[in-house]
Amino acid sequence: MTAALQVRGLTAGYGAVPVLRDLDLDVPPRMVVAVLGANGAGKTTLLRALTGGALTSSGQITYGGHDLSRVAVSDLVRLGIAHVPEGRAVITDLTVDENLRLGGLWRDDRKAQRQDLSRVYDLFEPLARRRSYPGHLLSGGERQMLGIGRALMSRPTLMLLDEPSLGLAPQTTAAIMALLATLRDDQGISVLLVEQNVGGALSIADRAVVLSLGRVVVSTTPQELAGDDRARHAYLGY
Ligand code: ATP
Repeated sequence: MTAALQVRGLTAGYGAVPVLRDLDLDVPPRMVVAVLGANGAGKTTLLRALTGGALTSSGQITYGGHDLSRVAVSDLVRLGIAHVPEGRAVITDLTVDENLRLGGLWRDDRKAQRQDLSRVYDLFEPLARRRSYPGHLLSGGERQMLGIGRALMSRPTLMLLDEPSLGLAPQTTAAIMALLATLRDDQGISVLLVEQNVGGALSIADRAVVLSLGRVVVSTTPQELAGDDRARHAYLGY
């Protein structure tokens, strides 16, 4: 079941000085929300605050009504939340197949897992050809596919992605963006998409949120943001 992610008044960081300040954000069901902003704006910290990797000093984060501050990080996946961190977190000593199976470890439905695995291989043909390769032999694009594929193995309803386009060729980036749009449209998966690649993210997003110095400075539609020269110059540098 898809649900809404709701963040209210979130103040979070790593020590005494907060990185995020009084931040509100919504990811409605079946929507892609792009989080944009310059280096250091707090985008990664936002994903970490959602997944237990940053200290929250105040505020509320709920998913489908569940207070995430009361959910162990290892249980987020049971609520349908899958995190694809920056750098893809591929386990380089394990094969593609082993990495993918890790994503379904918590499930006890073996048959459905096998079906999901073949679905991931259908989706990512390069991974199917390299299923017995160790992670370290994969290209950047293949690692990104593997990170997303592993997340899909947990049957998520919400995916949190940190810069999936980082280091990828434009064509591969376009393919990853198109895939995220398909996951939303066909499977109803919601996506919180942190990106430096503004064009790529806006091409599929339903909403765009711009962070600056840990605050939300713009929350709008991709169309309005694309037409807002002042905001683009001030916060996105183009
Ligand atoms: P980038 O696109 O460069 O990753 P970002 O928008 O994701 O930028 P964050 O990585 O969230 O930004 O960083 C926001 C601020 O938090 C920066 O000032 C950064 O130096 C600081 N920061 C990030 N990680 C840590 C950490 N582990 N400990 C202390 N400070 C941190």
